[in-house]
Amino acid sequence: MKRRLFILLALALLLAAAGWLVRGQLAMALYQRGAASVLASNSLDGLPDGLHAAFCGTGSPMPDPARGGPCLAIIAGKRMIIVDAGEGSAKTLAMMGLPAGRIERVLLTHFHSDHIDGLGALMLQRWVNASATAALPLHGPVGIGEVAAGFNAAYSRDSTYRTAHHGAAVVPPSGFGLSQRAFALPEETGIILKDGGLTVTAIRVDHSPVEPAVGYRFDYKGRCITVSGDTVPSAALAKAARGCDLLVHEALQPRLTRILGKAAKDAGNPGIAKVMADIEDYHTTPEQAAEIAQQAGARMLALTHIVPPLRLRALEGPFLGDARSRFDGELRIMADRDIISLPASGGTKISRLGGRVRG
Ligand SMILES: [Zn+2]
Ligand SMILES: [Zn+2]
Repeated sequence: MKRRLFILLALALLLAAAGWLVRGQLAMALYQRGAASVLASNSLDGLPDGLHAAFCGTGSPMPDPARGGPCLAIIAGKRMIIVDAGEGSAKTLAMMGLPAGRIERVLLTHFHSDHIDGLGALMLQRWVNASATAALPLHGPVGIGEVAAGFNAAYSRDSTYRTAHHGAAVVPPSGFGLSQRAFALPEETGIILKDGGLTVTAIRVDHSPVEPAVGYRFDYKGRCITVSGDTVPSAALAKAARGCDLLVHEALQPRLTRILGKAAKDAGNPGIAKVMADIEDYHTTPEQAAEIAQQAGARMLALTHIVPPLRLRALEGPFLGDARSRFDGELRIMADRDIISLPASGGTKISRLGGRVRG
């Protein structure tokens, strides 16, 4: 009896060991396949000619397991322009199969930390992936020079290690860093870029006491996207976005942030309670964003910079309030890796790019 038990135990152990071995081999095979598909993935070249908004970060400074810091890739034809570079931007772009080496330039809406704290990784990835020979252009209102110089200084030592390790052919010293392209803050709107059929217009918005602050409008082959940046409800933005296919707007729901404020107060953290109260006065609620989209006559409203994090899908209703009833077009709460495509030939398509990097 004892012997039989021993044999059974030994058999079970043997089977478990074999199982682990097979699992490991299976994982290695999947890893190989995954690595090949990740390294070869390029969503950019598969997109139809037109204008696209790819959401490489839909969150805010608040910790959110589902959303990275603010980042939007505007793709016009085969050109890729990044608007804001919050934490995690470079990683999310990679997961979306949007090659960092193809980033043409970066535009900042304002200099709040959550809109720039992914800039270092982004410029580094673009440099190495493209073996770039010129620094990455960084556009923004006056003040952008300090941001560019700061990142260049912080990463200057790292840049020498990269070239020493991988060689100047892979990481040419001339391609390191950011090259600032400051523009004067417009009274209302001002064109900051016009070439190859693409027009980019800066729009002055109100994110006081944060100044300067702008949004951007992109026009390409008859399609149009306006991006709010961070702002209170802005009549200037509604005017500038007139007739656009898509308005990408920030959104904060005070009904929810007040709950966080009260919880912080109850937990003995009056500083955070005050921050929760303060942030209400320089953002836009989902209901107000819907009204702006309605005023603009936009066809679609995409909410991003979602404050606070929506840990449950069921919170989307309370977050939106009655926003849907204030806008005739389609309204969406965006998630990281979503892409809204506006082909030059017409129509609108919403999909999600990429998945979890295996391994
Ligand atoms: Zn801000
Ligand atoms: Zn922000």
